[in-house]
Amino acid sequence: MKPYTRKQFLEITTAAGISFYLSACGLNSDKKKVAKIVPDSATPEKKVPAHTHQAHIDLVDKNDPRYDELRKGFNKRIDKHPKVIALCTTTAEVAAAVQYAHEKGLAIAVKSGGHSMEGFSCNDDGMVINLSKMNAVEMLHDHKIKIGPGCTITSLYDTILPQGRLLPAGSCATVAVGGLTLGGGYGICARRFGLTCDHLVEATMVDGNGNIHNTKDDTELMWALKGGGTGNFGIVTEMIFTTHPAPPTLQAHYFKSRKLRPERAAAILQTWMELAPQLPDSCFSGYVLNGSTLNILITNYEPDNEQLPTLLKKLAAVVDEFRSSHTGTLQRMLRNYYGVGKQLYFRNSSAGFFKSYADVAPFIKRHL
Ligand SMILES: Cc1cc2nc3c(=O)[nH]c(=O)nc-3n(C[C@H](O)[C@H](O)[C@H](O)COP(=O)(O)OP(=O)(O)OC[C@H]3O[C@@H](n4cnc5c(N)ncnc54)[C@H](O)[C@@H]3O)c2cc1C
Repeated sequence: MKPYTRKQFLEITTAAGISFYLSACGLNSDKKKVAKIVPDSATPEKKVPAHTHQAHIDLVDKNDPRYDELRKGFNKRIDKHPKVIALCTTTAEVAAAVQYAHEKGLAIAVKSGGHSMEGFSCNDDGMVINLSKMNAVEMLHDHKIKIGPGCTITSLYDTILPQGRLLPAGSCATVAVGGLTLGGGYGICARRFGLTCDHLVEATMVDGNGNIHNTKDDTELMWALKGGGTGNFGIVTEMIFTTHPAPPTLQAHYFKSRKLRPERAAAILQTWMELAPQLPDSCFSGYVLNGSTLNILITNYEPDNEQLPTLLKKLAAVVDEFRSSHTGTLQRMLRNYYGVGKQLYFRNSSAGFFKSYADVAPFIKRHL
C-alpha cells in the first residue's frame, strides 16, 4: 500500500464529516447527585496499585431517575441497559470505579459524549464509566489547554475562541473531546492544522487494573492514544493540547441540486472530487447526498484567497443553486454546523480512504 503523509490523507479525504453536521444530541443529565458507595478519599497522581484507589463514586442504577437519560447515546438505534453507571468526577473516582467493576465482575464501557455511532460507549449488564462531568477546560501558559474528556465541542469553542485560540476539532455541538481526540478528530480547520489528536501533548489514563498512567512517562502510550485510544488502552481522564491562533472569520459557500438522476449526481460529484483537492488549505469541503438532493459545502477562513473564486465558479457551473454566506466570526459561523440538540435514529457508513473519484464511483452509483 502506498504510504501517505497525514497532510496528503487530509487533503484527499475532504468528504469526511459533513453528514455529521445534520444532527446533535443533548445527553448529559445534570440532575442531583446521589452518592451510593463511599470508601474514602485519596487522589493518586501516578502509577499506584489499584487497591489503594478509594473514592466516593456516584453509582446510578436502573432505579435511579437519572438512569435512562444517562444510558442513552446519540444514536437512538442503540438501546443498551448497563447494570450500573459510574458518574465519575475525578481520575481517582475512575480508578475506584474500575476496581469496583473488577470486584463485581462487570464488563466496562467508557462514555464521554456518547456519540459512538455503533454504541460502543454503553453495554448490557455491565458498568458504564460516564465522564460527562469531567468536562473542564482550562487555559494554561504557552497557549496550551487542559481539557476533561467530557468537555463538548460547544464548550471547547466557547471557551477558547474568544481568547483568540483554536484547537482544531469537529463540528457537532455535543460530541465530546474524549472520543473525538482518541479517535482522531477531523474538522473544518484540519487541512491546514491537522487533527485534534495531533495537538495532544499529555494525557492521564486509568488502565484496566485501575492503575493511573501519565504519558510523560510513556511515549509509546502517547503515540497510541493519538487516534487509537477509544477504549483500547484504558480510560483517559485528562488531556493537554497545544493550540493555534484562531482564524478570525469564516465564510461558507453552498451548492445544491435537486431531483437528480443518477448520472447527473455522479457527474457533479466527479467534478467536486476533482476540485476539492485543489482548494486552498484554509478550506473544508464535504457533501450530503440525501435521496435525489445533493448539497455541497465549502468553507474558507482566509477571505483574500486568490484561487478560490475560480474553483467556486467551476463548481457553481454544474449545480442548480449556488450562494455564499456573509463572512462572520469563526465562533458565530461554527454554530451553523452544531446540528440538532436531540438523539436521532441513524445508520452511518464510511467511504473510508479514497484517492479519486474512481475509488468511490461504484458506491455512488449503488447509493443512487
Ligand atoms: C452527530 C455526530 C457528529 C460528529 N461529528 C464529527 C466531526 O465533526 N469530526 C469528527 O472527527 N468526528 C465526528 N463524529 C464522530 C465522533 O468524533 C466519534 O464518534 C467520537 O468517538 C465521539 O466521541 P464521544 O466522546 O462523543 O463519544 P462516546 O460514545 O462517549 O465515545 C466514543 C468511543 O470512544 C471511547 N471513549 C470515549 N471517551 C473515552 C475516554 N475518555 N477514554 C477512553 N475511551 C473513550 C468510548 O468507549 C467509545 O468507544 C461525529 C459523530 C456524530 C454521531
